[in-house]
Amino acid sequence: MSNHLFDAVRSAAQGGSVFIETLDGRQWTYDDMLLLSGRLAGALDTLGVRPGDRVAVQVEKSPEALMLYLACLRAGAVYLPLNTAYTLAELDYFVGDAEPRLIVCTPKAAESIRRIAAQHGAHVETLDEVGGGSLMELAADEEADFLDAERGPDDLAAILYTSGTTGRSKGAMLTHDNLLSNALTLRDHWRFTSADRLIHALPIFHTHGLFVASNVTLLSGASMYILAKFDADEALRLMASATAMMGVPTFYVRLVQHPGLTREATAGMRLFVSGSAPLLAETHRDFFEKTGHAILERYGMTETNMNTSNPYDGDRIAGTVGFPLPGVSLRVVVPESGKPLPDGETGMIEVKGPNVFKGYWRMPEKTAAEFRTDGFFITGDLGKIDERGYVHIVGRGKDLVISGGYNIYPKEVETEIDGMPGVVESAVIGVPHPDFGEGVTAVVVRKKDASLDEKTILAALNDRLARYKQPKRVLFVDDLPRNTMGKVQKNLLRETYSGLYMEP
Ligand code: ATP
Ligand code: MG
Repeated sequence: MSNHLFDAVRSAAQGGSVFIETLDGRQWTYDDMLLLSGRLAGALDTLGVRPGDRVAVQVEKSPEALMLYLACLRAGAVYLPLNTAYTLAELDYFVGDAEPRLIVCTPKAAESIRRIAAQHGAHVETLDEVGGGSLMELAADEEADFLDAERGPDDLAAILYTSGTTGRSKGAMLTHDNLLSNALTLRDHWRFTSADRLIHALPIFHTHGLFVASNVTLLSGASMYILAKFDADEALRLMASATAMMGVPTFYVRLVQHPGLTREATAGMRLFVSGSAPLLAETHRDFFEKTGHAILERYGMTETNMNTSNPYDGDRIAGTVGFPLPGVSLRVVVPESGKPLPDGETGMIEVKGPNVFKGYWRMPEKTAAEFRTDGFFITGDLGKIDERGYVHIVGRGKDLVISGGYNIYPKEVETEIDGMPGVVESAVIGVPHPDFGEGVTAVVVRKKDASLDEKTILAALNDRLARYKQPKRVLFVDDLPRNTMGKVQKNLLRETYSGLYMEP
């Protein structure tokens, strides 16, 4: 019997060495991981979960929750993590869409989730953040030596819903080999070994925290500190004994604002990785000035795992996401025709490789529409490749503004505005306009006490950008709307300002 992904996890396991440590000092060794994931897999089997069945999981982050992910692999089930922020109505949609055999939730949510589950024929068990709950009780009674289900490279390991930044979340079907091949590539590329200790403060319902952070740790036999959520004080304290951290840009923004971020505080660290959203060049620079570490930015998505990474040894260039990873083919094309563009020109990014998913769950038409006939996946991200081969993400195709027949890449305008004194950050969007189709519109967050107004920003841009790229209006807000992964939700901004240029 072989189980493609879990066999690799098992052979990298480090016996009595620590796999997970929590902030309150609780530890799980690799042997504990094998025992507990096996017992949980046994419990799934007892509950009637068969290979190919979906297991939906909406629980708080904990070592046991990670063991449940591994248990699903071992039982041959399809792991289906759900964002803990989802409301009951959203949950109802996902459960109806994915039809899981079992839903694992927190004891607190169990009563209402049972009502949803009953309508969809699913069974409910609970797991709490300190290792209690009905599923753990069941697992305690199981035999220790669970016989792993047979799973080949092309069998589904997980369905992961996308973050819903541009619309309704879609379920991406990921195979055992999508996950294994990408994690091995990252492990080798970022030089992870069993000597590493990772600071893991990302959520585990998303590709970044689940597959990148957890799988890379497991496949190198390293250990990780688990934080329920990011906290700059805690992260700095852990840096005294950790070697690496993976984060989203907001982690780094908070760290550079912290007086404790110094060369000494980060002396034992060898790697800081950022991804999931663009890292501002300013953050990259401030972090380097304070610590001597150049943050390594990488680019990926739910559907493709990781596509590119800045180099481990070479120059890590701010504002770029580095080179395609080994085994990943990446090209930039004209969005409509798919015709390849020369380096330096901006177009649609497309990727192909063992990392790319099998398709969207129960959306065959959408899947067909997002793949070219030669197998390349159309990412929806716009970008370019520079003369040194570094990939630059320019933004999302859906966020492109078309005004008066011209294409305007919001990032170009945002970079100009973000560089002005008194500006914290900005988001540039297209808003329906009677004359231009869309009017370029800037939504800006000012620093406290900054006296900057619309006129000053427009005047400054006048010298720096061609007329058609200049915003028609600049609006000020306290914060930009963000989802749980820290991504700016431009669709919400477009909705808010949809009537801006229309007659009352
Ligand atoms: P949805 O597809 O539901 O609208 P989403 O695309 O935000 O949501 P994810 O799969 O979590 O869902 O995010 C992937 C996207 O995040 C990429 O397509 C890209 O736009 C963005 N992204 C990831 N890493 C980077 C990065 N380093 N720089 C810029 N953008 C990034
Ligand atoms: Mg997406």
